[in-house]
Amino acid sequence: ESPPPTAYRVVLLGASGVGKTAFASIFAGAADSMDSDECELCGDEVFEKEVEVDGEAATVTLIDTWDSEDCPMQSGDAYLLLYSITDRASFLRASELRITLRQFRPAEQTPIILVGNKCDLVRRREVSSSEGRACAAVFDCKFIETSTAMQHNVWEAFHGIVRQLRLRRDSK
Ligand code: GDP
Repeated sequence: ESPPPTAYRVVLLGASGVGKTAFASIFAGAADSMDSDECELCGDEVFEKEVEVDGEAATVTLIDTWDSEDCPMQSGDAYLLLYSITDRASFLRASELRITLRQFRPAEQTPIILVGNKCDLVRRREVSSSEGRACAAVFDCKFIETSTAMQHNVWEAFHGIVRQLRLRRDSK
């Protein structure tokens, strides 16, 4: 008999227009009638789903946040920090959010993946892969480039965050 799945809260952060909603709908499954709740205070959308990663089930609650100044940063077990490779301002915003996150939870080893989305838009690229990777190294987090339009690497990002959460769990 398998143990009950572990539940994790994963928060999507990033500037407006980087693809957070698109990320959340891939997670939710376009055709699914997913339970989605809206946080009345922030308008954040919340999705819950059981996913299987490396043969082990995990319940992931995904929180799609609004990037607004007056909304408190949602507390999560892990964060997907999104920017668009076609929008340098969103890359800078990701840096600011990383710093805010560090102030918010200084002592903990919170899993974070820096996600460069819209990698299908090669001609409009403003942030190179090596810049993204270097930034992730400074931030001490993982890095992945994705395209929700091509459904490229999106599940890899979700699975990656679950793997990191498990590593942290198992090292305790
Ligand atoms: P949010 O404001 O972060 O929730 O961003 P959205 O998910 O609403 O996406 C903003 C716009 O970018 C929409 O028009 C999406 O269709 C588009 N978009 C999102 N991800 C991608 C992607 O990977 N590739 C391309 N070409 N467009 C994308």
